[in-house]
Amino acid sequence: MSSSYEFDVLVVGGGHAGVEAAAAAARLGARTALLTANCDTVGQMSCNPAIGGVGKGQLVREVDALGGLMGRAIDATGIQYRVLNRSKGPAMHGPRAQADKRLYQLEVKHLIESTPNLVLRQELVEGLRFEPLPQAAAGSPAWRVTGVVARGDVHYRATAVVLTTGTFLQAVMHTGEAKTPGGRAGEGTTAGVSRSLTELGFRLDRFKTGTPCRLHGGTIDLSQLQQQPGDAHPQPFSFLTDSIDRDQLPCWITRTTPAIHELIRANLHRAPMYSGQINSQGPRYCPSIEDKVVRFADKESHQLFLEPEGRRTHEVYVNGISTSLPRDVQDAMVRLVPGLERAEIMRYGYAVEYDYAPPDQLTASLESKPVAGLFLAGQINGTTGYEEAAAQGLIAGTNAALSLRGDQPLILSREQSYIGVLIDDLVTCGVDEPYRMFTSRAEHRLALRHDNADRRLTPIAQQLGLAEPERVERLARKAAAIEATLAQLAAHRVEGVSLADRLKRPEVRWADCVAAVPELAAVDREVADQIENDIRYAGYLKVEQQRIERRRQHGERPIPAGFDYGGILHLRAEAREKLERIRPRTLGQAGRVSGITPADLALLLLHLER
Ligand code: FAD
Repeated sequence: MSSSYEFDVLVVGGGHAGVEAAAAAARLGARTALLTANCDTVGQMSCNPAIGGVGKGQLVREVDALGGLMGRAIDATGIQYRVLNRSKGPAMHGPRAQADKRLYQLEVKHLIESTPNLVLRQELVEGLRFEPLPQAAAGSPAWRVTGVVARGDVHYRATAVVLTTGTFLQAVMHTGEAKTPGGRAGEGTTAGVSRSLTELGFRLDRFKTGTPCRLHGGTIDLSQLQQQPGDAHPQPFSFLTDSIDRDQLPCWITRTTPAIHELIRANLHRAPMYSGQINSQGPRYCPSIEDKVVRFADKESHQLFLEPEGRRTHEVYVNGISTSLPRDVQDAMVRLVPGLERAEIMRYGYAVEYDYAPPDQLTASLESKPVAGLFLAGQINGTTGYEEAAAQGLIAGTNAALSLRGDQPLILSREQSYIGVLIDDLVTCGVDEPYRMFTSRAEHRLALRHDNADRRLTPIAQQLGLAEPERVERLARKAAAIEATLAQLAAHRVEGVSLADRLKRPEVRWADCVAAVPELAAVDREVADQIENDIRYAGYLKVEQQRIERRRQHGERPIPAGFDYGGILHLRAEAREKLERIRPRTLGQAGRVSGITPADLALLLLHLER
């Protein structure tokens, strides 16, 4: 006999996108169910046991500023904190933390279990339920989602569904010649969701990603390795965390050698990427060790970071040696690394190939174009990384809940956030390799620093009802502290120049202000950092603000939904086809669609003005 249940929002998949989507929808009052294949893998890190990094750290801070889970979970379970790129300007700083992987996952599960309006349930979803819609206008959805079907003839009805199935759709894992169905070591794969998407008219494509082997830490000779400690003053990820007071664990650095590269070259014919066994595209910026040896043939050595996976396990992650070479080659390769001569592999590296849905099939709210009420977030959209997944999940879950109320969707702009950059890139340009965030993707990165994510985004979260009262109160206190401290800096003069003006000089640091006015030592570090950055870069930020304003005036001109591109005389067929597929919301977005020329835009503008 079949069973059936009814919710407002269903989220399929309890990975990094799914948990943020479910928590956001529930926070907005939607009765939400998070359906996932295994409750024990909620929030699981498939690959490296770390959160953040350059570009990614900014995303985590933004997710947190909007009330998300990731920042709180890593603050509760981090074992080493480092701000990367500290020697560069603040726009380039990337907070990163190593996680106790198992504890991180349990913490995320606990946060989900503690969220009101949210039911976590172990279900394997085998397909979508949907019904046809009358075609209202060009480009409008042909279907409406009505729920999902799970294994065992279990039916869930809902008004909105968020798909966050990660690397699990028709997934195949490769280690050398061995091929196993599964989206992650030790887990299965699903075909039904891909079938439903194809039936609904979605294009699907294949990507590939890989992971390195894990070693038993007790078999590593640390005396040969360089130690890498965490920062002396760990910087929390969440704006709700005052400080990180736990002991930190060190990571260790070693290198590959010419003998290893020789071994890899001799076995390339057994590497699935080179034997023709894998045809799909992997991330070029995150190459496997076999890729590195081929692409950077003149390099004699590559750095490897040995990262502990937790406090209660000896397992160590070997960052930098992602591979799908056969087991015997992995064994031989590891033994050639200085310090790893006697190391035992606990888990072998592998590559995974999976279906993704090219994200130009989504609107900027992450709702799909072919199916009303169906939202997609995370790796299913062709991205890679926990942080990219979390950011999309939060937006998709929020918009799923807002759509129930008939409210306008939350669409963050490129000028406001890295999340806006991420989603605009995905839905406007699509992807030709797994997409990850870099600071270079954000043209307004000076304004989008991780330190000011709360000032940029928490007021938006507050307005929507996503931010908890404590977050709002903290932001208000921080704003008051910034104002009071700025007044102090303006009032104190050294050699006739106010401290605020002196801080504009590159050689003057916050410590110099404290030396001049000892009471400033009591100012919170986060407040001091923000003031220092705001004052030091005020000139650049002003120019950037003007640029944003100019762009807004030109670019924000809306293009009506269902706009008839066929009616633009002389528009090139290729441009018309692309614009009809992407359906940009604004003239600015139309200009960012790849292959759209200034002449195409001029024709579009002319037509809009008529
Ligand atoms: P996932 O974390 O994959 O979560 C998907 C969830 O959906 C899982 O809980 C799964 O059980 C559930 N699910 C799937 N199908 C169903 C179904 N039909 N019914 C119910 N539940 C379902 N990222 C990096 O940044 N760097 C890397 O080096 C890197 N390497 C990787 C290597 C490997 C082998 C893998 C697997 C991933 C790697 N990633 C890497 C990617 C990173 O793990 C993902 O980007 C991130 O986890 C995506 O989050 P997600 O929520 O979209 O999906």
